[in-house]
Order: sequence, then structure tokens, then C-alpha cells
Amino acid sequence: MRLQIIGPPGAGKGTQAVRLAERLGVPHLATGNLLRAAIAEGTELGLQAREFVERGDLVPDDLMIAFIAQRIDRPDCNGFVLDGFPRTVVQAKALDDMLEEAGRPLVAAIHLDVPEGELLRRLTGRRTCPTCHRSYHLESSPPDVDEVCDDDGSRLEIRADDEPDTVKHRLVVYRAETSELIGYYEDAGLLVHVLGVGSVDEVHERMWAAIEDRL
Ligand code: AMP
Repeated sequence: MRLQIIGPPGAGKGTQAVRLAERLGVPHLATGNLLRAAIAEGTELGLQAREFVERGDLVPDDLMIAFIAQRIDRPDCNGFVLDGFPRTVVQAKALDDMLEEAGRPLVAAIHLDVPEGELLRRLTGRRTCPTCHRSYHLESSPPDVDEVCDDDGSRLEIRADDEPDTVKHRLVVYRAETSELIGYYEDAGLLVHVLGVGSVDEVHERMWAAIEDRL
């Protein structure tokens, strides 16, 4: 089961990808989380990616493609839910080539769509757990104890790239570079549209219904 979720920042890709991956019993591969961990650890990839991530720009394609190629080559990656990769058509073509070579093509690309005003609201109230990456929202899904993760007790953080100016820039980057993927996957017959508005459970069930016949 190989799925990919596309959507603007704040659409809920991370939250929904975790749910979907759990239900399918496959790994959740979130390039944003993997990059933030690499930056925190100071690995070579982290050092190369840092300035791009902090500005809200895309990390260069060659770095991302090499990184994901070695990750999905691992034995646990017969199935996966990809979240945040690909983000450009160049990345999408490279992914297709990798998966075709392995005889394991994508089953669907899910486009999670949310109106722009709602995205800004979600991103500016977002808090994330640096340990397990769970997302909270100050108003709509706060933790039980202020600023503390319900699952592991870590102190919640505001992502550096969730500052208002960077959020606006990430939306511009999405429209300029990533939204092109919608046409790419439509042409490939893989695209599934899902409206990302409503509760986490509602969106999950909508998503499941939209992909069920492809599983
Ligand atoms: P995300 O957590 O998915 O919003 O990703 C956070 C940041 O990581 C993005 O704004 C980019 O700087 C970087 N990033 C994540 N995935 C990719 C990718 N596939 N290509 C380029 N940059 C990426």
C-alpha cells in the first residue's frame, strides 16, 4: 500500500498521514519531520537543509531525492504513506522511477484541500511536539495540560517556520511549485481529492472512503 498526500501547509497532512499509516500498518514517512530531526542532530543533511527549511523554501531536489531513495529502499518500506514528498514535479518523476524499478508503484496521490483563510488560522495557532511530532492547536485541539504533549510529556514548540511571515511565504511556495503536482497525478490517474475541513475523524473517514476501492 503506497500512498502519497499532497496539500498546502496546514492542511492536516501530518495528522491524517499518521492515522492512515496506522490503519494500514505501514510506515509514515514525513520529510519535514525527518529534516527537522536531521537539523536538530546536526547531520550532514541537516546542515545542508537548515537555511532552506527555516526560510520556508524548498530544499533542493537532488538532496531530497537522494534522501528519500535510501529511506524507501529499506525492507520496512514495501508500503508507506508519504507526507511532504514529492513537492515538485522533478521529485515526483524521480519517485516514479524508483518505485517502477522496484515494481512497487504508487496506488494513489491524495490531495487534501483546505481554504486559505482556514490554513492561516491553523498554522498560527499550531504547536508541535518535538519528540513524537504530534500537532496541537491552541483553540481547536489543545493538549490536556497547557503547552505539554499528551503522549510523552514533552514541552510543545512553535515550529520556526510557523512564524506569520514564513507561513505566508510557504503558501506562496506551495502555489508556485507544489500545486503543479495535482495535474501531474491527475494525468497519471492517481489523484484523489479529499476536503480537509471538519474534525480529524471526519476527514479520516472521508479519506478512507475515497481510497478504499484502490486498496
Ligand atoms: P513540512 O513539515 O512538510 O511542512 O516541511 C517543512 C519544510 O521542510 C518545508 O517548508 C521545506 O523547507 C522542507 N521540505 C520538506 N519536504 C520537502 C521536499 N519534499 N522538498 C523540499 N523541501 C522539503
